Amino acid sequence: MLILSGVSKRYNDTLVLASTDLQVPAGETTVLIGPSGCGKSTLLRLIVGLIQPDTGDITLGGTQLAPSNLLELRQRMGYVIQEGGLFPHLTVRDNVTVMARYLRRDADWISHRLADLAQLVRLPLNLMSRFPAELSGGQCQRVSLMRALMLDPELLLLDEPLGALDPMIRYELQQELKSIFAKLGKTVVMVTHDIAEAAFFGHTLVLMREGRIVQTGPFKALARTP
Ligand code: ADP
Ligand code: ADP
Repeated sequence: MLILSGVSKRYNDTLVLASTDLQVPAGETTVLIGPSGCGKSTLLRLIVGLIQPDTGDITLGGTQLAPSNLLELRQRMGYVIQEGGLFPHLTVRDNVTVMARYLRRDADWISHRLADLAQLVRLPLNLMSRFPAELSGGQCQRVSLMRALMLDPELLLLDEPLGALDPMIRYELQQELKSIFAKLGKTVVMVTHDIAEAAFFGHTLVLMREGRIVQTGPFKALARTP
């Protein structure tokens, strides 16, 4: 379980995230939704440890996120952003495996894991030696998901993972992503500003506005409130 207590963030004089409490249940998909600029990406970046909160703390499975254990906790989280964030000068294979090799995981383990993940996200193995610029947008997001899953993280964080795709590809990947989440049973936190997408994915929806969580609950409960 992921727990945020009193987490806040300001940039210069602007409060972008007011003191925020959030409990993300294990094994479910929690969707952060709200208008552009309300602080959704900031909340995700704080959880991944890319930026540090001004106040409060974040704990994952009982371990509090701190500069001293950032690398260890980071390995327990997979992070996918809108444009994939792949390293352009690395092949697909290297993008997916770079962290595992840095951590000196066994080479056989790495190649089996690569093949399993390619099958999971339905990416042909002959694409593994291509560079990101040689892939379609949808394929890049599949690679990004492989990279995020490589170390079998307990928490998967996705920031508008389908936001840059054409409607048809987006629809197809929504269906696939949802079945992948169900199959893996991971704790997922996803950001979207699309209410239909939020309702499709989210066990719990977290509604944000102007740097605050204004409501939390299942879609049906939120839809009922005026
Ligand atoms: P969302 O993901 O909901 O669109 P963000 O978390 O990206 O919102 O941004 C929240 C607010 O914080 C916005 O007003 C944005 O302009 C501001 N912001 C984000 N990153 C920075 C930064 N590095 N420096 C200054 N302001 C920032
Ligand atoms: P989409 O319309 O889905 O974005 P693209 O037009 O980018 O797809 O690519 C269509 C197909 O061509 C994909 O299978 C992609 O992998 C392949 N492709 C794209 N660019 C290259 C390239 N530079 N070299 C080899 N194959 C490529």
